[in-house]
Amino acid sequence: METQLKAPNGKSWSQPRGLFIKNEFVKSSNEQTLTSVNPTTEEEICSVYAATADDIDQAVKAARRAFKHPSWKQLSGTERGVLMNKLADLVGEHAEVLAAIECMDNGKPYSAALTGDVVDVQNVLRYYAGYADKNFGQVIDVGPTKMAYTVKEPLGVCGQIIPWNYPLSMAGWKLGPALCCGNTIVLKLAEQTPLSMLYFGNLIRAAGFPPGVVNIVNGHGREAGAALVQHPDVDKVAFTGSTATGKEIMKMASSTMKNITLETGGKSPLIVFEDADLDLAARWSHEGIMSNQGQICTATSRILVHESVYDAFVDKFKSTVKRVSVLGDPFEESTYQGPQVTKTQYDRVLAYIQAGKEEGATIAMGGEAVSHKGKGFFVSPTVFTDVKPSMRIYREEIFGPCVAIASFKTEEEAVALANDTTYGLGSALFTRDLTRAHRVARELEAGMVWINSSNDSDFRVPFGGVKQSGIGRELGEAGLAAYCNTKAIHVNMRA
Ligand code: ADP
Repeated sequence: METQLKAPNGKSWSQPRGLFIKNEFVKSSNEQTLTSVNPTTEEEICSVYAATADDIDQAVKAARRAFKHPSWKQLSGTERGVLMNKLADLVGEHAEVLAAIECMDNGKPYSAALTGDVVDVQNVLRYYAGYADKNFGQVIDVGPTKMAYTVKEPLGVCGQIIPWNYPLSMAGWKLGPALCCGNTIVLKLAEQTPLSMLYFGNLIRAAGFPPGVVNIVNGHGREAGAALVQHPDVDKVAFTGSTATGKEIMKMASSTMKNITLETGGKSPLIVFEDADLDLAARWSHEGIMSNQGQICTATSRILVHESVYDAFVDKFKSTVKRVSVLGDPFEESTYQGPQVTKTQYDRVLAYIQAGKEEGATIAMGGEAVSHKGKGFFVSPTVFTDVKPSMRIYREEIFGPCVAIASFKTEEEAVALANDTTYGLGSALFTRDLTRAHRVARELEAGMVWINSSNDSDFRVPFGGVKQSGIGRELGEAGLAAYCNTKAIHVNMRA
């Protein structure tokens, strides 16, 4: 059920391979597995058990029992918070192993995993641990003969489905508020990155959560994911992934009218006005599309630049790419960009680059498949200029290190171009004009706006999209609403 693994940086650990149900690692019912591949070396890391619909049923039953069991149900919010803080401490103690797993399994730079993803999980857990005894109802004055009050109650069993781009963070964002409110969970990991959150199962047990409160399974989306979404005894589904899958999930969840939260795709615009600090704009817009190998749902992948500063901006953007986007072994300290997560993603990104060429965009930089020591799913950071709004590279989410840069003449045109998309996740703008900054921020059809930055994310601030980028919010106080009901209780005091 476990296998010994060693990362290139010398870190070794015992990797669980089972389905984590009731605080135990178990085989899948038919012993089927899926195999994780290291995208840097193209070598298999190990195989893990992949859940069948029967296994999902077992996990949901475990979560239901745990939900009703006094060991969880009767815990006070304060006590839940203590468990969550303990879990956050354990994440800190195991930070190097978690980061090494993420680096091997996903291809993201080790330093980014250690100082970004792992810390993010700790922050989210601690933030919601603090809320666990501060999320309560109201007494509502309804006159002298009656009274009414509300209580916040957990939803029940939550099915949570996460993607492969930030396995640890995406799990943390979902576990934190769900546990805070007293729910129980079946978390399904992405088949491309099954390892880090499986190791996390050890920490759930060590923190002292009662068996069945958090169940963690691997499995294929169409089998395990669909079984979880359709399970009649699941009360809520929270999903992060592609818009196409989000729509399928919405349909499937309708059969028993499940509460849903969806965080899906994006094609986020970044506007550079003529009065912008171009050095600042180049620095942030590079980070906004090139970090995490461009595999970010909020990536500002469409840059709209005022025509008067277009050439100057493109020059600065290109020199930032040259200076910062160091490709290579993600375990190397100097590496900024590792490989794309899988061969499938690598092929998909290269196909978009080809489409951009065929549609007549100019490749100002990159546009090639590259390798490290002859291996790996690396794509050079790619800058498309002369991009027209009709092109696929401008309209569709590529999910790779590729940016489309177009120009505009007026503020109205910039806003119209920015909003000309079915998505509405992030958006950014660069200007020194305070009034314009806030005016445009209100006009942008997006769940998040970054003024003079891109892709800021903070556990205290709500995260989510409008239009086809999702439903509901994660993080911040707003994230609690996704995991509790407000029950109204009326009391008649008249004889
Ligand atoms: P990608 O296309 O990048 O792999 P997806 O949105 O398909 O992104 O996957 C995100 C998560 O959704 C993964 O955990 C995946 O297994 C899961 N998933 C994929 N298809 C389905 C489905 N039909 N039902 C439920 N979950 C699914």
